[in-house]
Amino acid sequence: MAKHVVITGANRGIGLGFVKYYLANGDSVSACCRQPAQASALIQLAESHPNLTIIQLDVTDETSVQALPRHLNDAPIDLLINNAGYYGPKGIGFGQLHAPEWQKVLAVNTIAPLMVTQTCYPMLQKATNAKVVCISSKMGSMADNQSGGSYLYRSSKAGLNAALKSLAIDLSSEEIYCVAFHPGWVQTDMGGPNALITVNEAVAQMAECIDKLDAGQSGLFLNFDGQVIPW
Ligand code: NDP
Repeated sequence: MAKHVVITGANRGIGLGFVKYYLANGDSVSACCRQPAQASALIQLAESHPNLTIIQLDVTDETSVQALPRHLNDAPIDLLINNAGYYGPKGIGFGQLHAPEWQKVLAVNTIAPLMVTQTCYPMLQKATNAKVVCISSKMGSMADNQSGGSYLYRSSKAGLNAALKSLAIDLSSEEIYCVAFHPGWVQTDMGGPNALITVNEAVAQMAECIDKLDAGQSGLFLNFDGQVIPW
């Protein structure tokens, strides 16, 4: 059965990959991005896909987030993908830590996914076995941290993972399943050209896992291929 999929940061990179994947699957996609007028790839896709809606959303802007239910006509959401993310300025190590920059990274990566999910909650409740996916990163794994550094990004994704775990527990009685993914090292503006996998590879594998996501997996931190990643 066709799903309604809502994706943040949908204008480029992994988010755009998810848009293409679910459109090809015959689903209805609400693609959220900061500047719809400049989202040329989405505009082009919308010309041939009437089931694609482009929605303005800056995930850190409260007014923009609050407008989401109106843009979505309060329609049931089967799958919410909190994908929008921000690495922050590179090369900020211990000694150069800068609180306002850190707050920006936390705002996009940690706080926004939960605020967007909270705003979408009534629409998630309207679907049967709705799913909430947060695109996290292995860099947020404490167990995986062998090299130090990347304070801003690492802490923001570790915080997202902690919040996701609570969300999964809190929504389990309503059978809304929540999971965090490491998408792999992916060839995007953020991942760079030397990254190991393409957007299509990452998205196809995560989508396969999302399809199978059930109560037993809710609250886990998964690699794009479905392997569990230690926190
Ligand atoms: P990109 O940098 O290519 O894209 C980031 C997306 O997030 C863009 O659509 C951007 O919009 C959007 N975004 C950033 N800030 C906001 C905001 N305030 N409101 C709305 N949208 C915003 O990154 P990727 O596609 O590579 O990353 C997608 C996700 O995957 C992120 O969460 C990232 O942390 C995670 N990830 C990526 C990895 C990789 O190797 N690529 C590895 C591990 C995790 P705009 O165009 O307007 O800036």
